[in-house]
Amino acid sequence: MQTLIIGLDAAGKTTLLYKLKLGQVVTTIPTIGFNIETMVYKEHSIVGWDVGGRSGNRLVARHYLKDADVLMFVVDSNDTQRLEQAAHELVILTKYATQLPVLVVANKQDLPGAISPKEVRERMKLQTILKDRPWCVLGLSTMTKNVPLEYSFPSFYNNAFEYISYHHKKHQQNSAISQNWVGKLSSLIKPIKAYLTGA
Ligand code: GDP
Repeated sequence: MQTLIIGLDAAGKTTLLYKLKLGQVVTTIPTIGFNIETMVYKEHSIVGWDVGGRSGNRLVARHYLKDADVLMFVVDSNDTQRLEQAAHELVILTKYATQLPVLVVANKQDLPGAISPKEVRERMKLQTILKDRPWCVLGLSTMTKNVPLEYSFPSFYNNAFEYISYHHKKHQQNSAISQNWVGKLSSLIKPIKAYLTGA
């Protein structure tokens, strides 16, 4: 089972990955312009990285979208100025995986300037972007103080994994699940790194 966590930089992906407690970060190569982190827990692997800065990231994302079961797209609900950019990236990514279930994470709900998940849905025009596939928006704060229960991490965890498990089963009927996923990540990254570093 593969989940991709993608979003603009500083959306909160890394924090979420750690919070999910799925294991250790096994790959981080920020120096080459990609910020890829992979976590593996039992048969569930999650990979996350930034989009928006470099088109190369999109190419890598595109590669992984082929085998993904769910896309978790993390948005900073407090950074309303970049919502349009986030929506733009989501449009591009979802073009490469027309059936893939998408879970939009309206993160940082604890911040006073954060807009609600409903507003995120409206302002990003998610209904228009994602209409033909299973999708939902969940509010989240990875902080523990001053957070309404519905946006707390335990609520998010339960709802997100219920959503992912349900759609994974449905999606699995249509796509082969890669068993050697981390191996594929390294084999993809090695040539890119060699190219960029001139090694
Ligand atoms: P990434 O670039 O998407 O991996 O973002 P990070 O996980 O590195 O988070 C960027 C910043 O946002 C860090 O300073 C985090 O502590 C902060 N952050 C992440 N999630 C939350 C949240 O739910 N609430 C608040 N207030 N800050 C958050």
